[in-house]
Amino acid sequence: MEKVIVVASKNKGKIREFEELLCPEGYTVKSLYDFPDMPEIDETGTTFSENAVIKAQAVTDRYHIMAVSDDSGLEIDAFDRQPGIHSARWLGHDTDYAEKNRIVLEMMKDKADRTCRYACAIAITRPGEEPVVFFDTVEGEIAREPKGENGFGYDPIILYPPYNKTMAEMTKDEKNGISHRGKAVRKMEEWLKNENL
Ligand code: IMP
Repeated sequence: MEKVIVVASKNKGKIREFEELLCPEGYTVKSLYDFPDMPEIDETGTTFSENAVIKAQAVTDRYHIMAVSDDSGLEIDAFDRQPGIHSARWLGHDTDYAEKNRIVLEMMKDKADRTCRYACAIAITRPGEEPVVFFDTVEGEIAREPKGENGFGYDPIILYPPYNKTMAEMTKDEKNGISHRGKAVRKMEEWLKNENL
């Protein structure tokens, strides 16, 4: 039987990452581009896990099909764990990340506590089943200046102390090995194998 899973996203980078993971496991991977009549999904949750479930469950409820979605972000301890679930919108949807990162460094200028973390929740939903969530984090520090060209988003200003590198100075494999998303994805893969799904 064909195994179909819908990535509840229109983010092409995310869809490609899930395709790379799930196609080798025998899944036909679809996305919201295959379901153009899917209404906009309101992310009304208060946690990464809630928002990941809301997005995947909306697709499962409407099309009676297995879905996967992720929600991730950056928590800065000196800012009471903001931006958190608002990471993508924080400091303006249209502000580019070079500018956002410059603003964060300015806001952090006098802060003694520079600890922060990335968090990632991945939800899998299936008709007639409870949602399953895989969650993980990676602890870091806000760097003193941006460094590195790899990765995306806040990566140039997020220092990973065990490697003494920012997330943007790591290779893709190095980052996947330690990242919030890499760890959550490996939990999901393990679960899919064990469930024989
Ligand atoms: P989402 O697409 O709603 O999950 O938003 C995630 C947002 O969190 C991104 O737009 C980035 O701002 C931030 N973020 C999450 N993971 C990472 C990462 O690995 N590197 C850099 N920024 C990240």
